Amino acid sequence: MVCSKCGSDEIQRLEDNIDACTPQEAPPIKRSLKWPGIGVFISLLLLVNGGETIVFGVLTLSSSSFLGYKAYQFNTNFWPGLYKRWQESWKCRQCGFVFHRP
Ligand SMILES: [Zn+2]
Repeated sequence: MVCSKCGSDEIQRLEDNIDACTPQEAPPIKRSLKWPGIGVFISLLLLVNGGETIVFGVLTLSSSSFLGYKAYQFNTNFWPGLYKRWQESWKCRQCGFVFHRP
């Protein structure tokens, strides 16, 4: 297999490219569930507190749940595909061209 840009055979998998310097070369990152988790925790405190804070509790809980759900969806539906594509990507050591080839 050769580089599809310059024809060099000095190519390596992105996976083996330890000095990744661009976002394209770095592995895809999963969305963090930390902040939605903290949001849910705070909203529960607000709900337990009762009184006027219940309104904020409900708002925080719904927005945190939504963000958490979106992050979960991304991690389970999109991230595996992105990661697989990254694993199947190669970088040319001659010209630095990054290309996808399973
Ligand atoms: Zn090349």
